[in-house]
Amino acid sequence: LKREGFPTVPEITWQNIGGLEDIKKELREKILEPIKFSKLHEEFGASRPNGILMWGPPGCGKTLLAKAVANEAGINLLPIMGPELLNMYQGESERAVREVFRRARNVAPCVIFFDEFDSLCPVRTKGAESGSKTTIVNTLLTEMNGFAKREDVYVIAATNRPDILDPAVTRPGRFDTLLYVDIPDHLGRISIFQARTKNGTCPCLADDVNLEEISRVCNNFSGADCDQLVYLASKEAIREVIHSGENATEIECSNEEATTKRLVHKKHF
Ligand code: ATP
Repeated sequence: LKREGFPTVPEITWQNIGGLEDIKKELREKILEPIKFSKLHEEFGASRPNGILMWGPPGCGKTLLAKAVANEAGINLLPIMGPELLNMYQGESERAVREVFRRARNVAPCVIFFDEFDSLCPVRTKGAESGSKTTIVNTLLTEMNGFAKREDVYVIAATNRPDILDPAVTRPGRFDTLLYVDIPDHLGRISIFQARTKNGTCPCLADDVNLEEISRVCNNFSGADCDQLVYLASKEAIREVIHSGENATEIECSNEEATTKRLVHKKHF
């Protein structure tokens, strides 16, 4: 276990995440309230939340959401890339999984965020390799069941490929809250542009920038695409300021859908 992330309280807040209101609401109910009001939940016999699995296309906010949960709860997030735990030597991957939980307990309360979760828990097929993956799944589930002792460790996982997940992990009592994080729709994209430009009040945003209009021509953009668009516009504006001294700049960019859009930034920041 060499390259795993370090546990920290992330700086991402709900306000940094555009759209996804339904998912935020689910996360508040399913994991934030149980963390924040853990004593109350214990008193009322409501068990600790099981694992939460977020799935959906890449770049649509799964990692951001996990960060915002930990931020809002004021607790550590331990980010883990699934493939980094895999080791060809027998028993080493399982050891790495146990080590992750041990580290999380050491810095509890803590949310473990497993990204690319499908690499750890692929559907079981016959063959030598799948045999070792099966024991990884079992180790993971055993560690999670250990939560009965309540050590203030919570688990969120994310995948782009729920279809290749071992169904054992999504049985009741395990990862039994499944949240689909979709690409943003028109309003979602506006929210992301707003979040990215400080609610449209970013001082470097030209007065005539119409986020609504920009969103209309960004069909099928992921959150990451929207973010990239704002980033490219900023870079272009900075370049203009540094090199040409012109008042404003305009950029064009396209995605697979070959849509074109413009974002205009003022000269001065
Ligand atoms: P992957 O499946 O590839 O791990 P993901 O769903 O976890 O992707 P994130 O890492 O959360 O996606 O998002 C990638 C980047 O895209 C973020 O750092 C952020 O800049 C931007 N982004 C995505 N969704 C949103 C959103 N809803 N609001 C604001 N920014 C977003």
